[in-house]
Amino acid sequence: MSYLLCEKVRALEPYEPISGTYRIRLDANESFYNMPKEIKEEIKNIIDNIDFNRYPDPTAKKLIACFADYYGINPDHVTATNGSDEMLYLLASAMLEKESRVVVVDPDFSMYGFYSFLSENAVYTYEKNNCLNIDIDDLLAFAAENNADMIIFSNPCNPTGQGITAQQARKLVKGCGNCLVVLDEAYMDFWDQSLLSEAADYDNLIVLKTASKAVGSAALRLGFAVANETITKALRSVKSPYNVNTLSQEIGSCIYRHKQLLAERRDQIIRSTRELYKGISEIVGNYSLPFRVYEPCANFVFVETDNAGDIFEFLLDNSIAVRYFKNADALRITAGSDEENREFLVNLDRYVIEKILKRNR
Ligand SMILES: *Cc1c(COP(=O)(O)O)cnc(C)c1O
Repeated sequence: MSYLLCEKVRALEPYEPISGTYRIRLDANESFYNMPKEIKEEIKNIIDNIDFNRYPDPTAKKLIACFADYYGINPDHVTATNGSDEMLYLLASAMLEKESRVVVVDPDFSMYGFYSFLSENAVYTYEKNNCLNIDIDDLLAFAAENNADMIIFSNPCNPTGQGITAQQARKLVKGCGNCLVVLDEAYMDFWDQSLLSEAADYDNLIVLKTASKAVGSAALRLGFAVANETITKALRSVKSPYNVNTLSQEIGSCIYRHKQLLAERRDQIIRSTRELYKGISEIVGNYSLPFRVYEPCANFVFVETDNAGDIFEFLLDNSIAVRYFKNADALRITAGSDEENREFLVNLDRYVIEKILKRNR
C-alpha cells in the first residue's frame, strides 16, 4: 500500500496567473499606481523600527483603526486577514458546517466556489440573466428553494463590472434572515452603492474589503471583513492568530492614513476606466462590430466577443496582458494609465483592421 492523495485534491492544479513578463499588465484589476516616493520613504523608516524577532499583533489593532478611520466605520466591527482570500476560505470552512449549502452566482469570482468545494459544502449556482444582472427576487427564491446557509457574490461583480444597488442589496439581506449574506465589495471604492457603513446593523451580513484594488497595495495581502460584533468575534476567533504579518500591518496603517492621496487616485482610476470604456465603445461603434461592451462600475471593462481568444493572443504577442474568459467568450480589461489605455486601444484597433476587416473583404 502506498499513500494516495484524497480524491478531491488529486486533479487540482496550482493557481496560475498569466506567466511571463509583459510591457503592459491589464489582467489582474490592480491599481496602475505604485506608491509615490514620499510614502516609500516613510515605509523605509517603518521597516527600520520593526522588531523582526517578535510575532505580529494578533488583533491588528492599529491597522484596523486606520482602515476603519478611512471608511468612517467602527473598528469593533472589523477583522483583518491575509488578503480577502484568507477570509473567503474561513467563511467556507470554519464559518459553515460540512455539507452546508452555499449559493454562488455566475459569472462571478471563481474563488467562492473553489473554497466551498475544498470545504465540502454543497454549491448551488444562480445564473445571471442575459444582461449579466442579478434579479433579487429571483435570487431570493433560488436561495429559499435550495435552503441556502450562505449567499456570496461580488458587488460590483468581478468579472462583469456590473452591480446591484444598495437598495437591492438591503432587500436581499432582509429577505433571507436565517441565511448569511456575504457581499464582497472589493471594487465598491469605484462605485457608490456600498453597505459597508451599515453592515453591523444586520445579524446576517458580512461585507468584505481589500487593499489590493483601489488602495493599490496588492503586494501587502490585506483583506477586511466588516460585520456586527457577534459575527466579528467569531471571525476573529477562527482566523489563525498571526495571520497578518507585521510588515503588512505597519505599512498598511501608513497607507490608509494617506486619505487624500487614496481618494485622488481612486478618482483617477474611475476617470481612466471611463476613458477606456469610451475608447473600446468607439472602436466597436466605428466598425459596427458584434461585440458587447458593458458599462463598468468597477476599474475594468468586460467585453463579450467571439474573437476574445484571438484578440487575447494578438495582445499578448504585442506584450499586453488582459484577462481572457474562455467559457464566456469574453475579455476583462483593467483600466491602466492613459499611456497604457492608449496602447491597448491602438492594438485593439489594429487587430480589427488586420484580422476582422481583411477577412471580411
Ligand atoms: C481582487 C479581488 C479580491 C481581493 O482579494 P485579495 O485576496 O484581498 O487580494 C477579492 N474579491 C474579488 C471579487 C476580487 O476580484
